[in-house]
Amino acid sequence: MSIFTEIIQLEHEQVMLCSDKATQLKAIIAIHNTVLGPALGGTRFWNYTSESEALTDVLRLSRGMTYKAAAAGLNLGGGKAVIIGEPNLIKNEALLRRFGKFVENLNGKYITAEDVGVNEKDMEHIHAETNHVTGLPISMGGSGDPSPFTAYGVYLGMKATAKKLYGSENLSRKKIVVQGVGKVGYHLISHLIKEGAKVYAYDIQQEAIQKVTKAFKVIPIDANKIFETDAEIYAPCALGATINPDTLAIMKFEMVAGGANNQLLDEQRDGDALSQKGILYAPDFVINAGGLMNVQTELEGYSKERATEKVESIYQNIMQVFQIAEKLNINTQKAAIHLAEQRIQSVGNIKKFI
Ligand code: NAD
Repeated sequence: MSIFTEIIQLEHEQVMLCSDKATQLKAIIAIHNTVLGPALGGTRFWNYTSESEALTDVLRLSRGMTYKAAAAGLNLGGGKAVIIGEPNLIKNEALLRRFGKFVENLNGKYITAEDVGVNEKDMEHIHAETNHVTGLPISMGGSGDPSPFTAYGVYLGMKATAKKLYGSENLSRKKIVVQGVGKVGYHLISHLIKEGAKVYAYDIQQEAIQKVTKAFKVIPIDANKIFETDAEIYAPCALGATINPDTLAIMKFEMVAGGANNQLLDEQRDGDALSQKGILYAPDFVINAGGLMNVQTELEGYSKERATEKVESIYQNIMQVFQIAEKLNINTQKAAIHLAEQRIQSVGNIKKFI
């Protein structure tokens, strides 16, 4: 597929190629949509197998950010950046500062943050060249780790999903499988245990499981038991694409509500399959927006209370998705996209008159 075909298909506003011979910087900044506000999204530093793979990744991720911000009711657009290369080999202060200069050149149309392969120290280097940075450590006036906010939003979204399905949001004695007990999974489990849920957990890293079993009364399970466990709720909190034809064939859950990004391998097909199986799905980009809400609060002058208030709106956002799905007789994934697109379209229409 040609570069322009892909960009036109996904309807990006602007895609910027950034290169610098001296530092070996090769980066792409993708601005998908700025109707609602500046495009915010992290910078990923990854050793892509090809430049076209990097382009596809940044285009999809930036579009995902547009939907996440729109459905969350935030005045933000969607953007993302990727730096191509093996971080252990080429990442250094000069390269990151050069990248920061490219971000600065966009005059705030794109605001960056941490993502895979980029840590707090790296953000400090980028920040040396631009103020269009969020998610900085608390010591630098930022909002710190977004994971507890993401997890709290997932917990509230799970309660909303339970309310819709069972008529009660109470999760006590509900059996819940949490796949991936890293930053988000760990904090989610703390809420679930406090409420009296029975939590089954799996992680590919033994240390992560040890940490969580030491802190809470959770039941560790094997990889091959995740989708066979007799539990009502599945909370994917690891990587994406865990909902696919293979897992759908064996899962007996009643609802899916978790923090991972891109949970459906194929949005249309697997969204339909979940609904045909009668499994109520809380769309990932709506339920896991708590971290973005926290980071966005930094732009207004950070307040933890204000960030928490925003995260609490996830309960209502999830309910709204279910209402749209019912009204239009579509699956919940499509309903979430509809919610986001409607908001962008209506604000876009108003902007024409300004
Ligand atoms: P993390 O790296 O801290 O934790 C992920 C955990 O998943 C790790 O412990 C890892 O060992 C485990 N894992 C990886 N593959 C697995 C598998 N196949 N089965 C079981 N466990 C597996 O990451 P995180 O910050 O907790 O993020 C978790 C997910 O939530 C990711 O998909 C991320 O994109 C998404 N997310 C995170 C945030 C946030 O605020 N951190 C916000 C939005 C979305």
